[in-house]
Amino acid sequence: MSCRQLSHFLSENLGELKTKGLYNVIDPLQSANGPTILIKGRELINLSSNNYLGLATDSRLKQSAVEAIQKYGVGAGAVRTINGTFELHLELEEKLAKFKRTEAAVAYQSGFNCNMAAISAVMDKNDAILSDELNHASIIDGCRLSKAKIIAYKHSDMDDLRMKAEQARNGAYNKIMVITDGVFSMDGDIARLPEIVEIAEEFDLITYVDDAHGSGVLGEGAGTVKHFGLSGKVDFQIGTLSKAIGVVGGYVAGKQELIDWLKARSRPFLFSTSLSPADVAASIKAIDLLSNSTEQIRQLWENADYLKAGLKKLGFDIGNSQTPITPCILGDEIITQEFSRQLNAEGVYAKAIVFPTVPRGTGRVRNMPSASHTYQMLDTAIAVYAKVGRNLGVIH
Ligand code: PMP
Repeated sequence: MSCRQLSHFLSENLGELKTKGLYNVIDPLQSANGPTILIKGRELINLSSNNYLGLATDSRLKQSAVEAIQKYGVGAGAVRTINGTFELHLELEEKLAKFKRTEAAVAYQSGFNCNMAAISAVMDKNDAILSDELNHASIIDGCRLSKAKIIAYKHSDMDDLRMKAEQARNGAYNKIMVITDGVFSMDGDIARLPEIVEIAEEFDLITYVDDAHGSGVLGEGAGTVKHFGLSGKVDFQIGTLSKAIGVVGGYVAGKQELIDWLKARSRPFLFSTSLSPADVAASIKAIDLLSNSTEQIRQLWENADYLKAGLKKLGFDIGNSQTPITPCILGDEIITQEFSRQLNAEGVYAKAIVFPTVPRGTGRVRNMPSASHTYQMLDTAIAVYAKVGRNLGVIH
């Protein structure tokens, strides 16, 4: 018999989620996660994935993964420090460092894991972290794990950051870090890195940028730091291999000394089995492709501009995105959920994002165009948006 307290906790809390409409029913995909997907036997135009460049289904990456499986098998077999570093892992890290214009890089099992690993390897209870209030959950959890004092600053508000940096510098902390997403995933805005770096230089702050949504998208793929011409000026650059790169895993790029320290002290590196050979080989292939051609990135931006222009022309509020992330802000949570449901019924898969993921009253359907969408798919999606928007009285 299971513990009664646990059963009580679960049924009460699951019940509450369901009555408030906050319980997410997860749709099983019957196809690859491409520009269209198959759900319950219906083909839908997919505007929900982070597969920005279409690499998740690229035949060249698949071939590299198959070859790595034939040569090395399906699993790494151990934690890297014990028995599991393949030459492939080292090759990936060398290529990532070159791609990010840093001295070195270390790969982890996910982007989430990078933030668990890197922040607490360097920061401790005598330190402080200045964190943008809209930072990703994994940054928040990584900061908590470090036991450093967390000081949130208002989203991209440089006056607030400067004031809090000054206060922290006058406090009794040892090290102080400023940490931000490179691109904010719900609105698509870019962090104000030039000013953040300037404030960091003024107050001697460690700089940490999680560029999960900027890598492969901005700065010819190298990310937000390169986009602003700040290579060499940011201590930690985090990236994920799961979005534009199309595979799974994450990495930290920075100075050689920092990477040596993370390999010696960060816990997910020391205590968790490394990326599988197939993941590593496919990621290497993706980095090679992006290092040799920016064609997919160009196509991504072209598609994003096309979708944005189409939705804007219809009269939708698409916010202030500076990247391919295209929110369609509807406000009311119930309308947002209904809007997404009707899009789905008409053949477009775009998820509703509501409180608590975004502030109350700013519910939105978030669209993620990719390089592999065709204009025909985007035209169909825009026509469906027009129909649903008029149906629900959101546009006229
Ligand atoms: N950091 C940020 C800013 C993210 O948006 C995400 C993905 N949602 C992650 C980290 C986690 O990356 P991964 O999916 O590779 O764990």
